[in-house]
Amino acid sequence: MKIMLVNPPRFQKLPVIREERCEITERYSVLEPYSLLQLAAILRENNHDISLIDANGFDLNFEHIQKRLSKIKPDILIFRFTPTTFDYDTSICKMAKKANPHIKTIGLCWTLTKVMEDVMNSVPKLDFYITGDYETVVPTLVENIHDASTVEGIVWRSGNDIRINPATRDTIANLDELPIPAYDLLDSLDPYFINTPTDETFTIMYTSRGCPYRCIYCTVAGTPWKPRSAESVMKELRYLKKNYDVKLISFFDETFTIDKQRIMDICQSMTEEKLNIKWYCNTRANLLDEELIVAMRKAGCRGMSIGVESGSQEILDKASKRITVDEARTVIKLAKQNGIKVLCSFIFGLPGESWDTVEETIQFVKDTLPTGVQFNVAVPYPGTEFYRWAIEKGLLEEMDWRQLYQHESIVGTEDMTPEDLDKARYMAYKALYTYPIWYLENVKHVMKNPDDFSMAVKYSIKIINNFLLHRMEHSH
Ligand code: SF4
Repeated sequence: MKIMLVNPPRFQKLPVIREERCEITERYSVLEPYSLLQLAAILRENNHDISLIDANGFDLNFEHIQKRLSKIKPDILIFRFTPTTFDYDTSICKMAKKANPHIKTIGLCWTLTKVMEDVMNSVPKLDFYITGDYETVVPTLVENIHDASTVEGIVWRSGNDIRINPATRDTIANLDELPIPAYDLLDSLDPYFINTPTDETFTIMYTSRGCPYRCIYCTVAGTPWKPRSAESVMKELRYLKKNYDVKLISFFDETFTIDKQRIMDICQSMTEEKLNIKWYCNTRANLLDEELIVAMRKAGCRGMSIGVESGSQEILDKASKRITVDEARTVIKLAKQNGIKVLCSFIFGLPGESWDTVEETIQFVKDTLPTGVQFNVAVPYPGTEFYRWAIEKGLLEEMDWRQLYQHESIVGTEDMTPEDLDKARYMAYKALYTYPIWYLENVKHVMKNPDDFSMAVKYSIKIINNFLLHRMEHSH
């Protein structure tokens, strides 16, 4: 089969992240389409003829894709889409069918799997929507593309009917068995960066998938956690070092440090092999301790992103966050003491939010001074507990997933309107960005870690731009 994988173009000139839990426009990040590269490698092992276009990464337009479709004439098109770029991304189906009416179109989008029928009804030219683990479901679907009735983990079109084939445990991938993503299908890794452009060769990478925690607002809450072994991770790291001289990696796992021993093993190998790669990860405040933080720093960890969400314990408890404000405080301090930058994210608008709790969050930030912050508003993603809460409370009536932005609220709380929450978000950024002690704290970090100087300068320019020019829209 001739298969083309496409990461659609940027949306209104804004880069788009189309990766699992993170399906958003993001002004200051251009990520390679890891999931498509992974799929490409698997399908290539199965002897299919693969081409890949990262239109977002290389800033190519739909016209370019159209030309490639006409030239290559694939049998199957696989692409990703996001809620807020939905109509734009899925327009590729119409384009593909115009070039070849027999082409089969397969779409991937994690965030909308709970409204799968709506997705299919909205895009008549979409043949299949993947709702299970794409690493196992897509290869099986490709083998059975002309009779998908037995393929699990898909929604598909049979004549005028929409059929749902639920995923079962059998469709869960063993990540250690997967080949290294087909990085070679990209012309280079030059376009990619996260949060702040740097000159260092960068990539994202997964060492695990899923998260067993049950934060009420999260689209991956309660999903099976699937780790890769330390050796499997090292194999990919060695490959990236040897072939691309990668200098910077963001481990894109939902929650990197769920299994402490696994991370200790990865850190030990990275340290012993002197890979000289700086890296970042996402994790939770209750899954870090000093021993782990020290090992991570030694192995090249330079930053971590921690979802703190609120400075109010009551809000954290209502959101089933299962961390305490004190745990967050301790971890921020420990990480900073060990030269690891801490990016903390917060959400305004979780159940119980009021102007008092907003103030508690701002005070928490001023007290703990994380290296960087993200303030978002709570988004009622379909299928989440938060979505159900908003409906039950009468705070959300109709919802169009195209409006689900993390910078613009569509649902309030009992005490705050959506407009209040937008104001709170801006106010929080202003409170930090006009707080001289925060700048001093970051200057202290750079003095102790001079190799962060260039990134610190670029980050400062970014936040000034972001705050003054873009009012923190489509970015953090
Ligand atoms: S810890 Fe909570 S927010 Fe983070 S990935 Fe898990 S469920 Fe989602």
